[in-house]
Amino acid sequence: MLQSKNYKFWFCTGSQDLYGDECLAHVAAHSQEIVKFLNDSGLLPYEVVVKPTMITSEVIFNTFRAANADAECAGVITWMHTFSPAKSWIHGLKELKKPLLHFHTQYNREIPYDTIDMDFMNENQAAHGDREYGHIVTRMGIAREVIMGYWQDAHVIEKIGAWMNSAIGVVESSKVRVCRFADNMRNVAVTEGDKVEAEIKFGWEIDAWPINCLTPYVDAVTDDEANALVDEYYKKYKIILDGRDEKEFREHVLVQAKQEIGIEKFLVEHNYQAVVTHFGDLGSLKQLPGLAIQHLMEKGYGFGAEGDWKTAALLRVMKLMTAGKKDAKGTSFMEDYTYNLVPGKEGILQAHMLEVCPTIADGEIAIRCTPLSMGDREDPARLVFTAKEGDGIAVSLIDLGHRFRLIINEVTVKKTEKPMPMLPVATAFWTPKPDLETGAEGWIYAGGAHHTAFTYDLTADDMVRWADSMGIESVVIGEGTTIRGLKKDLKLGEAYYKN
Ligand code: MN
Repeated sequence: MLQSKNYKFWFCTGSQDLYGDECLAHVAAHSQEIVKFLNDSGLLPYEVVVKPTMITSEVIFNTFRAANADAECAGVITWMHTFSPAKSWIHGLKELKKPLLHFHTQYNREIPYDTIDMDFMNENQAAHGDREYGHIVTRMGIAREVIMGYWQDAHVIEKIGAWMNSAIGVVESSKVRVCRFADNMRNVAVTEGDKVEAEIKFGWEIDAWPINCLTPYVDAVTDDEANALVDEYYKKYKIILDGRDEKEFREHVLVQAKQEIGIEKFLVEHNYQAVVTHFGDLGSLKQLPGLAIQHLMEKGYGFGAEGDWKTAALLRVMKLMTAGKKDAKGTSFMEDYTYNLVPGKEGILQAHMLEVCPTIADGEIAIRCTPLSMGDREDPARLVFTAKEGDGIAVSLIDLGHRFRLIINEVTVKKTEKPMPMLPVATAFWTPKPDLETGAEGWIYAGGAHHTAFTYDLTADDMVRWADSMGIESVVIGEGTTIRGLKKDLKLGEAYYKN
């Protein structure tokens, strides 16, 4: 579900035909060596493919046009080994629709002091050629990433890997289709937004479906099919009966299993990768989908509650951006609930009614079945756990009426001081950076929502890069943020993104 394509990145080395065949042969050989090293490093989430050296405007144009047309190409990495007159890049760059990385490196690490001559200088002048090339990309106003450093250094290769993950978010964004069961929760503002503009900006198709379109799909699930899934749940998760009869408890879990199978069938048949529900509009569903949605999120589907299509689509994009990540710690829909304001122990308790993704779970996951205290349905079965410790980001996409803003808060997830046995939902507890007071004040000044897409596996920079590619404003609240500085950022954003 998560990985839809075997993505590759094209490595395009710039040069020109002024230096003779021998030099160009070296350029091509060096590029091949560098690409082989990058691929063999084990540090990149996706394969790099070397392309023939780009020496004329025509070659560049045709290569970039081919990159656009290749469904498996997720981005282009450019590097000027020698000087490459930048006017020859204009037509190609105008054509390029894929994410662009300018890798500013050099074949040799050290200046060969004893042997260096003008031939060497002509052949190895990225310091020169990459400035010429960088100039034209800046002049043309093209969003791109610049990474400088030696191609054998792990931290440099890791930066390329992080860019690749953002690039996947860019190319996959236009394929996200959100199935929205029911409409927005009445009177809620922040989950609303302009769906037409979202399709123009992000490529997201957001469709509404009456919840009862789901009924035949859930009803068609046989007991055998659902029981097989319940057996899987029972094998994987601990059961906390909370005094309920064992048989009755399993019946409730069976309802969730039927919902999971039915919802997924619907999503697959209609080609949706994200889903939105509303606890106040459940049609014929016997329970609010809890465990069912949690399991679907774990498989890679985006999710938003109470009509929140923006967070659903964003979560799907972020799950795809982390798909290539080794040892990923998890990505989930989340909601700010309640504070701990004890000095030195400040933080926000995160949860939702039910729908928190088990990919972020630390240790044991249990199924519980307790009243929802909202709505008019059966007590829904849900997965209960606490989140892993560590740094992450909480991200909110808001519609300001005339444009979108992406708000990113760096947070540190911690364990709560004590367990919360009376709270039958999955939780995370985090302290926003730079501290709770600044983090929360900044979030509110920026207009951030109570719903977020949370991940341990991306950085604020990764999301800023994605926002830049989408042409929307991004605001980061993190280490070093001050309210004075943030207010200035917001004013600058207001001016810059006026149209
Ligand atoms: Mn909510």
